[in-house]
Amino acid sequence: MSARQRPVVAIDGPAGAGKSTLAAFLAVRFGLLNLETGAMYRAFALKALEQEIPLDNADALEALTAGTTIVLEPNPKEIRNRVLLDGRDVTARLRDSDVAEAASRVSVHPAVRAWMVSRQRGMGAAGGVVMEGRDIGTHVFPDADVKIFLDAAPDVRGQRRFLQNPGVERSAAAAAAEVRDRDERDRSRAASPLVPAADAVHLDTTAMSLEEVCAAAERLVVEKTGFAPVR
Ligand code: C5P
Repeated sequence: MSARQRPVVAIDGPAGAGKSTLAAFLAVRFGLLNLETGAMYRAFALKALEQEIPLDNADALEALTAGTTIVLEPNPKEIRNRVLLDGRDVTARLRDSDVAEAASRVSVHPAVRAWMVSRQRGMGAAGGVVMEGRDIGTHVFPDADVKIFLDAAPDVRGQRRFLQNPGVERSAAAAAAEVRDRDERDRSRAASPLVPAADAVHLDTTAMSLEEVCAAAERLVVEKTGFAPVR
């Protein structure tokens, strides 16, 4: 383990792979804080939408970071973090597909990413966290104690996203299309594209049940950190 007293577990992968569910499970099992970095990009994107800042205007977005505060409040009873944007609870709005799409667009800008990464490093500096996103094992914590790259076939991810967000996604086909577009943008951007870290353990969950995924990840955390589950 690194110099930290408590572990950092990094979970990366494309949309709909099941990262949030797995992160929430591991957080409870090992007594860690579950930090959803995607929610930070979503909250920032919401602010840009509200202020009608064009999502391709890198300079205006960089200026917007200066006056922005995003706080993630993990709750062991919930999969999702409560998210405060400049002190306002925006959690409910973040799942909407316009915000997801906007998050994927603002996240291509290097200055926005640098701002996020510096905050995320601060949040995880003491360890004791499961952090999930796209670049945790490659950029935010390249020295994470455990790195999991969670993936699944695109149609399965679209279907899961549809089932997870009742009332938000219009149809399974629309959910699949949204996931596909965001993936494409995340994988092809120049700044920190979505790629597995060289030392990440890949879990392809296409044909796995949730229980199997959780059990495999739990074994990995025990093996890599020497920590035993607390619950
Ligand atoms: O994980 P989630 O679907 O909430 O992330 C929303 C978007 O934020 C992603 O599609 C991605 O473009 C961006 N993101 C990122 N890096 C992260 C987390 C999220 O670029 N670490």
